[in-house]
Amino acid sequence: MPRLGVLGWPVAHSRSPAIHNAALAELDMGDWRYQRLPVPPALFTDTVRALRPSGFVGANATIPHKQAALAVADEASTAAAAIGAANTLSLRPDGTIAAENTDAPGLIAALGCSPRGTRALVLGAGGGARAAAWALREAGAREVSVWNRTPARAAALAEDLGVRAVRRPEPADLLVNCTAVGLRRPQAEPGAAEGIEPSATEIEELNQLGLSFDLVGKYAYVVDLVYRPGPTGLLAAARRHGRRTLDGLEVLVAQGALSFELWTGRPAPLEVMRRAARREPATS
Ligand code: NAP
Repeated sequence: MPRLGVLGWPVAHSRSPAIHNAALAELDMGDWRYQRLPVPPALFTDTVRALRPSGFVGANATIPHKQAALAVADEASTAAAAIGAANTLSLRPDGTIAAENTDAPGLIAALGCSPRGTRALVLGAGGGARAAAWALREAGAREVSVWNRTPARAAALAEDLGVRAVRRPEPADLLVNCTAVGLRRPQAEPGAAEGIEPSATEIEELNQLGLSFDLVGKYAYVVDLVYRPGPTGLLAAARRHGRRTLDGLEVLVAQGALSFELWTGRPAPLEVMRRAARREPATS
């Protein structure tokens, strides 16, 4: 049985098993399985090396393993090497490991429009932010700026990837949140209340991102890599302003589809994967 999985710590929240197993079922690849692989950082390298002998042909890496996934690989794609992180490992029959980063092309695919010529602001300086900043620059964004809670990390990212670090968020065409803000589900869901006024929870999440409610209205298109049940405070605020939005599940599905195609050589059934991500029943 060819096996696939997602290495993370923690990984219980991941929607990747649902997405990939739905795709495998759709393509009648019933002998394949995709599973969660909860692995603490200290055991990451040994675990990855033991995967192929255990029948694994590929694995995704998520928090906090994306840099370690690049380091453990024998070969890395240009994108993974430039970004400094990998989310997709191919475990070859000869025992070698190839690293790819599908977060970057996944974001561009999920956007649904080209960022060419636009001004983009990326929030965060971790693995997700590095992939987003690199992807937007490669896709021809006119200007890519990065803001982070810890400015020194934004400065290091900017220097590595040839983008601009900013001391506070500035208006732009496209805003991409790549911080972990919004990951924890609040007691009261932002956006649950009707009306145009932002909730206290929403304002609190925006503050953590260095944003005000009014400033969110200055971005034409707002993307949040974070996914959780219900909109994040950022997406709720953007919707109140009538702005275009994209949530983290769409990006997750897009990057997952690219990983799936790498491992299986089959076109990914995107709609099936999207429905599985959103826990919607299959139509067929
Ligand atoms: P990471 O490497 O751990 O980076 C975390 C980032 O969040 C850092 O910039 C950190 O800032 C910032 N941060 C954390 N808590 C914060 C707070 N309370 N206030 C302000 N900033 C805060 O994580 P990552 O891999 O980049 O992932 C970040 C998020 O994106 C996660 O929620 C992840 O699930 C999501 N993601 C989703 C997808 C997808 O496909 N949808 C893909 C990749 C990532 P400091 O530097 O100041 O600590």
